[in-house]
Order: sequence, then C-alpha cells, then structure tokens
Amino acid sequence: MEKIIFLDRDGTINIEKNYLYRVEDFEFEVGVIEALSIFQERGFKIIIITNQSGIARGYYTENDLNILNQYLINLLKEKNIIIDGIYYCPHHTSGIEKYNVDCKCRKPNIGLIDKAQKKYEIDFFNSYFVGDKISDLEVAIQLGMKPILVETGNGKKEKNKIYFKANIYENLLEFAQKIKTIT
Ligand SMILES: [Mg+2]
Ligand SMILES: [Zn+2]
Repeated sequence: MEKIIFLDRDGTINIEKNYLYRVEDFEFEVGVIEALSIFQERGFKIIIITNQSGIARGYYTENDLNILNQYLINLLKEKNIIIDGIYYCPHHTSGIEKYNVDCKCRKPNIGLIDKAQKKYEIDFFNSYFVGDKISDLEVAIQLGMKPILVETGNGKKEKNKIYFKANIYENLLEFAQKIKTIT
C-alpha cells in the first residue's frame, strides 16, 4: 500500500493566476520545492489532482496543459523530485460542447482519485489531500484521507467556510515541516 500526498495545483503548488496555462506565467508558491522533497523523503508518493475548467471554457487546450505539466515535471526532476502522477479534469457544465459534461472527475468528485487507484494501491488512512479550496478537502473526507487546507491561493477566503475538522497551514512548507515531526 502506498501513502500518498495528493496535491491541488493552482494556489497550492503554484501561485494562483486565473486560468494559468503558459509556462512563463508559472511561479512556485514559497517553499514548495523543499516541501515536496520532505514528502518524498518521508516515503510519500506525490500526485497532483487538478480541476482545469479553462479547457472546457476554451481558454486553453489539453495540449497546452500537457506542455505546462511536462515543464513542471522536468523542473522538479532536476531537483530530484519525482511526481508520481498528474490527473486533471477538463470539464465544466458551462463549457464548449466536447467538455460540457457533468462529470465524475471534477473535484469535489473523486473520479480522479479512482483513476490513480488503477495504478496505486492507496493507503487512504495514511494519505493526505492538500488544497486551497473546500472542494479539495471534500475529496479527502469522502475517502478517509486527512484534509489539509493551505492559506495560499484561495485558502484564506475558503478557511471561513470549513464545516468539518481540517488542519490549516500557512503554506505547503509549513505542512511539510509538520509531517516531519509525525512520520
Ligand atoms: Mg487550487
Ligand atoms: Zn471531469
């Protein structure tokens, strides 16, 4: 069984910019590389789970997203960090026809985790879902993972809407430092 840190992307790993897709606009949040190294050192796999409704909305294509994802994977590889998967939802109900689906993969739905489960036997009890939105944490709750809210991105706003028990950290690095003390 694998223990996994599932991570939202926008507002958690990179600075939230509306509908980011260009490599040159990609900027890490503070301490992210160090945080990811800590997760990896502690034996976690790292999987990114991201809603990309900008594809449905016609702002960018799946190809654009794949280019950005590959950039991110390569950048981290240079720092000896392995990303074990990136799963995305391209859908939205107000999107262009091809992607206009009330899907099972847009968070807070758990379809993207189901996909990851085809590849990994996940130890949900010892896994985490970290994000800057309630919808990220709701994925965790449904599957018995620990929900973690970061105050980067939308986190500060979303914090007031939490209706369940969750741990809140200033950013991903602060959470990673906590992980160090408990694993
Ligand atoms: Mg986010
Ligand atoms: Zn979807």
